[in-house]
This record gives sequence, C-alpha cells and structure tokens, in this order.
Amino acid sequence: MADDGAPVELKQALQRTHDWFEVNSGWAPPEVDELAEWLADDVSRAPDDCPVQPGGICPHGLASWDVVLRSLEG
Ligand SMILES: [Zn+2]
Repeated sequence: MADDGAPVELKQALQRTHDWFEVNSGWAPPEVDELAEWLADDVSRAPDDCPVQPGGICPHGLASWDVVLRSLEG
C-alpha cells in the first residue's frame, strides 16, 4: 500500500473528481488570482460549484479546486 501522505478520502475524492471531469462539461478551473482570493478568505469551491473548505471535499464527493489544481501540477 503506497502512502504519499495524502488522506485516503482525499485521494478517492480526486479520483472521483477526474471521473466527473470526463462525464461533465462546462466546468473551468478558477484563475490563479481567483483561487488565491478564495484561499485568502479560507473558502474554496469544488468543480461542481459547491462551496467547500480549502483542501476539502464537497457533499457530492468532489475535491476542492485547490486540491485538484495542486494534483495537476504534480
Ligand atoms: Zn458538490
């Protein structure tokens, strides 16, 4: 069992989010400035537009944009 330090729920949420991207259109990642503003206010959004905590998971199981974008940066 590989463990890179990320909580299992978050990894599952990321997987679910990538699956969601494949079957949904019309989503767009926030601008860098926009995301920075959210995080400065200690809020964030999931790709389905749910308000979530930074680093959190929305009620539908999607990961917050800050988590998604960080994972895409590698
Ligand atoms: Zn949601």
